[in-house]
Amino acid sequence: MYKYRLVTPGPVAVSERIRRAMAEELIHHRAPGFQPVFREVREKLQQVFQTRREVLVLASSGTGAMEASVSNLLSRGESAIVVRAGKFGERWAELCEVYGIRPVCVDVEWGRAVRPEEVRAAFEAAPAARALLVQASETSTGVLHPIRELAEIVHERDRLILVDGISAVGVHDLPMDAWGLDALISGSQKSLGLPPGLAFVALSENAERALERTTQPRYYFDLRKELEGQPRGHTAYTPSVSLILGLREALRGILDEGLPQIFARYQRTAHSVRAAVQALGLELFAPDAPSYACTAVCLPAGIDGAELVRRLRAVYGVHVAGGQGKVAGKIIRIGHMGDVDGFDLLAVIAALEMALLDLGYPAKLGEGTRTMTQLLREFSLEKG
Ligand SMILES: *Cc1c(COP(=O)(O)O)cnc(C)c1O
Repeated sequence: MYKYRLVTPGPVAVSERIRRAMAEELIHHRAPGFQPVFREVREKLQQVFQTRREVLVLASSGTGAMEASVSNLLSRGESAIVVRAGKFGERWAELCEVYGIRPVCVDVEWGRAVRPEEVRAAFEAAPAARALLVQASETSTGVLHPIRELAEIVHERDRLILVDGISAVGVHDLPMDAWGLDALISGSQKSLGLPPGLAFVALSENAERALERTTQPRYYFDLRKELEGQPRGHTAYTPSVSLILGLREALRGILDEGLPQIFARYQRTAHSVRAAVQALGLELFAPDAPSYACTAVCLPAGIDGAELVRRLRAVYGVHVAGGQGKVAGKIIRIGHMGDVDGFDLLAVIAALEMALLDLGYPAKLGEGTRTMTQLLREFSLEKG
């Protein structure tokens, strides 16, 4: 009855413009036609990552770039501080273990951002730790970590900071070079508004030196090979050509709109969604340091999260994400990335009001949508 609306915090809805670009005739990656595409993509990725370093393009999901960072920058027997504040922080720790690196975990209650002092204390307790591994935006809880402050702590010690920016690059201002991030990672199916299948990682000069030193076995994700080839237009293995055509279109769209404008737009969107759910009497899961990538909402007692997600999708066509790991069934996450605008999210709030009422929560129809409409209007007036 309703149209399908994909509003999970990844994968995200892909615009028609990007889908069309990916449907173009396949070009061979060694043929001349691919070179200008790849060159444009490389240059534009540097702008979006706010770096002069090479942004490597990998054919994998985002986790591939996380794994590549661990296996290329850290050696067996070393230790690393890991901010474990959600599902993706856990993934950093698991990756370390697999490669024989001891994760020294800073465990943070889910829904809270790490405090710089906690990381400082961890380095004091484990001064040999080679690196700090952290998410910029912890998509499983909707939290934004204070990356700039964390980078300063890492620099005082001449260590590396590896930042998973999979739901933050292109959403929040995360200037790689200005903040001195040593590895900045992203993936295609979140803020870039593409289907899944591409991962990105840019490395600082210090990280590049670490690359030469590490003793891990690497093959597909040997970033030395990619660093040598990609600046000349050659990926080590067959690149995802169609996704790269879509990426070119996505990056053009991002840079046409402008990064500062995009950051401001995300801030407004996130703010209006948050105000709307609060007007419905619901609480935010990450009230203190919310990421703009998604809004995580606590569910009232008696409402089964899985059932709410199912009903939203099956009856209202609205596909939000539930909670992962230890918050499964307890929260829902409304994504703000990809091809969604304020009116799409207004529809999501309307559907949420209806679905909550269906499940017995005394939602007052129109309370959330009214708040959101008012805010959207204020933003439009500000913009003139
Ligand atoms: C989605 C996500 C990942 C994992 O990416 P995959 O593409 O599923 O491998 C890692 N970190 C963060 C912060 C994410 O949002």
